Amino acid sequence: MEPPQACHLCGERRDLSDPTSLAWGNDRDDEGRVRWLCPGCTRGHLRDIEARLPDRWW
Ligand SMILES: [Zn+2]
Repeated sequence: MEPPQACHLCGERRDLSDPTSLAWGNDRDDEGRVRWLCPGCTRGHLRDIEARLPDRWW
C-alpha cells in the first residue's frame, strides 16, 4: 500500500478520484522523500518565493 498523499503544509489529503488532484505539485525534501503541495498551498508558496526576491529586483 502506498502511504496516503497529503499536503505537507496544511495536511489536506490528495484524492486521486478528484480532478483537482492533477493540480497538486510535489517536490523532494533533503532525504529524497516526496512532499505534496495542494493547489492552494502551491499558490501561497509561490507568493512566498516571490516575496523573498531581493529588493534590487523592483
Ligand atoms: Zn495545503
